[in-house]
Amino acid sequence: MKTHVQVVVIGGGLVGCSILYHLTKLGWTEVVLVERSELTSGSTWHAAAGIHGLHDNNNISRLQYYTMKLYKELEAETGQSCGIHQPGSIYLACTGDRVHQLRIQAAKAHAFDAEFYEISATEIRELHPLMEIDDVKCAMFEPLGGYVDPAGVTHAYAHGARQRGAEIYRFTAVLETSQCADGTWDVVTEKGLIHADIVVNAAGLWAREVAKLAGFELPLMLMEHQYFVTETIPAIASLDRELPSVADRDKEYYLRQEGQGLLVGAYEKAGRFWAEEGTPLDFGHELLQEDLERISDHVMSACDRLPVLAEAGIKKVINGPMIWSPDASALVGPVRGLKNYFVCNGIIPGFSQSAGLGLTLAQWIVEGEPQWDMFAWDVTRFGTWASKSFTQARVLDTYSSRFRIHFPNEERMVGRPLKTRPVYGVQQSMGAVFGLSYGWEHPQWFAKEGMKQMDEFSFERPRWFDVMGEETRAVRTSVGVIDTSNFAKYEITGPKALQWLDRIVANHVPREDGRICLTPLLSLRGGLAGDFTVARLRHDRLIMIGSGIAEDYHRRLFDKYLPEDGIKFASVTAQMTGFNVAGPNSRIVLERLTGESFSNAAFPFMRNKVMMINGYEALLFRLSFTGDLGYEIYVNEINQLDLYRSILEQGQDLGIRPVGSRALGSMRIEKGYGSWGREYSPEWYPIESGMAGLVKTDKPEFAGREIYLQMKDQPPRQQLCHFAIETKPGSTGADAWGGEPIFKQGQYVGRVTSGSYSFTCQTSVALGYVDTVHATAAGGEFEVAILGLPHKAILLDEPLFDPKGEKLRR
Ligand SMILES: Cc1cc2nc3c(=O)[nH]c(=O)nc-3n(C[C@H](O)[C@H](O)[C@H](O)COP(=O)(O)OP(=O)(O)OC[C@H]3O[C@@H](n4cnc5c(N)ncnc54)[C@H](O)[C@@H]3O)c2cc1C
Repeated sequence: MKTHVQVVVIGGGLVGCSILYHLTKLGWTEVVLVERSELTSGSTWHAAAGIHGLHDNNNISRLQYYTMKLYKELEAETGQSCGIHQPGSIYLACTGDRVHQLRIQAAKAHAFDAEFYEISATEIRELHPLMEIDDVKCAMFEPLGGYVDPAGVTHAYAHGARQRGAEIYRFTAVLETSQCADGTWDVVTEKGLIHADIVVNAAGLWAREVAKLAGFELPLMLMEHQYFVTETIPAIASLDRELPSVADRDKEYYLRQEGQGLLVGAYEKAGRFWAEEGTPLDFGHELLQEDLERISDHVMSACDRLPVLAEAGIKKVINGPMIWSPDASALVGPVRGLKNYFVCNGIIPGFSQSAGLGLTLAQWIVEGEPQWDMFAWDVTRFGTWASKSFTQARVLDTYSSRFRIHFPNEERMVGRPLKTRPVYGVQQSMGAVFGLSYGWEHPQWFAKEGMKQMDEFSFERPRWFDVMGEETRAVRTSVGVIDTSNFAKYEITGPKALQWLDRIVANHVPREDGRICLTPLLSLRGGLAGDFTVARLRHDRLIMIGSGIAEDYHRRLFDKYLPEDGIKFASVTAQMTGFNVAGPNSRIVLERLTGESFSNAAFPFMRNKVMMINGYEALLFRLSFTGDLGYEIYVNEINQLDLYRSILEQGQDLGIRPVGSRALGSMRIEKGYGSWGREYSPEWYPIESGMAGLVKTDKPEFAGREIYLQMKDQPPRQQLCHFAIETKPGSTGADAWGGEPIFKQGQYVGRVTSGSYSFTCQTSVALGYVDTVHATAAGGEFEVAILGLPHKAILLDEPLFDPKGEKLRR
């Protein structure tokens, strides 16, 4: 056994072996995998191992396709069979919303050259003659769909990794992991100590226990999951080919051919937790007590679909544990607060994602960050706010509606409220419908009297569409107040605070007290790791505002630069609460509130001031994400309620109204402002996103400077563009949301990052990245696939709202 290595991967399931394989593929050979038993001894060995490509998230789809395609290469490379069966998969839609979902996915498939297309009833019958389809409204076919052999795939990864120099130690449990002073790790195993630069937790069902060895917790819960395999079915045995898999997602079961019978699995409503307090260390190749009664409703639905199933005998039942995160997506990446420790856990469709996960994690380790924006998998999306009770509630809900359709703006109520701010009750009494923002309740829109105070989601324009219009008009014509407490806020203090931050962010940190700047933070590859507002209060006190959902993600990046003498970097998100008072009359409200002048001369654009309001200190910024005249006001949370009431009182005669974040989203899109996680992500370079002007190469030092200098004169791959889109008028229409493909004369040329309806300009609008060759033809016609159907889109050379920035400076 090696005693000094670059990486120790803990766990020899499907995922650990894929990580090991991809590390060697990227050239690292001093890498080992440690497995407490035989390979596949967690949930891998008993999986149904179905594979599919499409996901609502484009980059996850991309990596699922990479996975499906890799299995054949892996077989060829290693000689180890992966047991690949690809008879294709048929996806059925029996409701209008499912039709929309499938058509949206089929359109998105163009983004990664994937085959996923609509088929007629005749084609369904040809592909699957045993299926009843009278209730089917639409069906898609994915030729690469099917299943693999769990042990075959795992051993193929292991074989491929060994061929390139990796070593695997079986029957060697990891007992302890302790961090050394230099950030490396001592990994204590049953058979001795391995000293590693980097540790990867790929311990599957035992991910929580292995995390605890390093002193942290993961938001994961285990659920029992059942499928069964039938005896031979004569109608199947007589076929000369294998039947495609069937995804009948409205009924929450999956079904495919297995041998000459069928395999059926289901996600029951009354899901059952397993090993809530910890996975037994001696569990391995056992199964859990079968109980088909629990999934009988789903089985009945499957029998209605495939009547031959009703007559088949059952050959075997599998009830095995699966480990889930609160949103059913994997928890991947470096753990904040620990050096050189990575996780890759909570994986549900492991056989569809194994290669994508392995590649992502290997890139993160070897190259410093993944190639694609993988925030949807990033472990930092759950902070410590994701408590055990929240995780439990969410996992149960997610399990029991595994195939539920995810709509634009979707919010789920279970497990909430977790964290509320002092204005919560008042906002609620004013009609606020809340969403979850990094653990906090945050107003999305304000229901009017007589309206149901709750969300109802739809692919078409939602029930709150008209309210969103009224909230927007309040801002554009008079004044609105928007809660901005959900932004992440950081305070940087100390004599060297300014110099320190200036060496990290790409723009100049303001050179005078009282000024504000916007600045990108560049990633290792030169992409946009963040976009921040930095306010210089004094030379030794800065306030930085960033994306709320990315707080842990950004703190992980800033942690790399700490600790340094004379600098204190602290999150003040909880104690610093704020509002944006925006619109042409916002100045009047602020003057009444403070008794001070807010004229352009007294308080110019992009400045900050500390003022007293009602006897407490408030920090004011002159800027607004609405793109209109506006001011952000921040106070300590104990003063938040008083401030809110005072703002509303002072604006009452001006028709002030509370405005939610959905209206804010519409306003920032019509103004053309990008948002982190949408237009701005590590995947996009500043020269592509319009941020190049904020990268100051005259600075001797900032994160990503060298890579930026190398690439700044290269032609951008794609460019961020503004579109006006022709859609149906009124509440029956639909707008782009994000992820929709953009076509030019039928050819895929890019994708939408955000879309909405512009109430100010009375048109549907979108932001999106388009191949550079097409990005400069203002007035040019494109097609955006909304609900999977082409809609005419005109490329604009500037944002529709206030392109010259006169309103925000008025
Ligand atoms: C009934 C069922 C059906 C499924 N069907 C499908 C399907 O159709 N398609 C699909 O894609 N997915 C399916 N899955 C999910 C799939 O099985 C998982 O996504 C996948 O197996 C996860 O693999 P893993 O490597 O992350 O974890 P595991 O397979 O749990 O591997 C973890 C490994 O870590 C080892 N380990 C743990 N602790 C230590 C330690 N301290 N020291 C050393 N080693 C340790 C364990 O022994 C184990 O071998 C199914 C799961 C179940 C339960």
